[in-house]
Amino acid sequence: MIDNNPVIVALDCDAQEALALAAALRGRVTWLKVGMTLYYAEGPGIVARLRELGFQVFVDLKLHDIPHQVAGAADRIARLGAGMFTVHAAGGLPMMRAAVESSRRGAEEVGLPAPAVLAVTVLTSTDDNGLSEVGVSRMASEQVVLLARLAHAAGVDGVVCSPREAALMREVLGQDALVVTPGVRPVWSDADDQSRIATPAAALAAGASHLVIGRPITAAPDPGEAAARIIAELT
Ligand code: C5P
Repeated sequence: MIDNNPVIVALDCDAQEALALAAALRGRVTWLKVGMTLYYAEGPGIVARLRELGFQVFVDLKLHDIPHQVAGAADRIARLGAGMFTVHAAGGLPMMRAAVESSRRGAEEVGLPAPAVLAVTVLTSTDDNGLSEVGVSRMASEQVVLLARLAHAAGVDGVVCSPREAALMREVLGQDALVVTPGVRPVWSDADDQSRIATPAAALAAGASHLVIGRPITAAPDPGEAAARIIAELT
């Protein structure tokens, strides 16, 4: 069940701040992202709290383990009612298939819609040299395509990638796939530590279906107003 408001607000903070942000963002955005920082501090309960407030939750834990373990995690994430979650494509085809099948089964057993499974290909913090250090001789751009094809074959619903890769991912994965891009900055906000950024409109034009936006909204004096301004610029 994927909403058509494309903005996903990344909550990289503690629960108190996350809940205050959620209150400020109600009615403005439908998606919130819980990453490792918030999840490992607060546990699965934070996903339930945000859902109770009416949000769809993207659980971004980038699973990567043996298929049995990932199947177990995917099942729990689905039963929590997450709307999307991430796995590392480098975990391989059987691992990604296990995530897809187990999350569908888990959701069905509790009568919830199945969450979308998103694959992370090559982290944008890894360059050609970083890949070579871990024994991958392909260029990062080629490795991204190879892993996206593998993810597609495993039946995942989409990928997380930089706005610069969005057009290519759309080509590889087709029109129905989810293409979720962080590294998004409106022209009026700071780049922070992001390089290779794109504006929200440019990321969508390149083929993104959803935009992960953190600090331009969460660190704004009025997060609700910042979110509304970004959404207005897209329509
Ligand atoms: O505050 P900002 O908009 O930079 O937050 C972006 C979010 O997207 C953070 O949660 C960050 O971890 C995540 N992310 C990213 N770059 C990637 C992958 C994920 O910034 N390549």
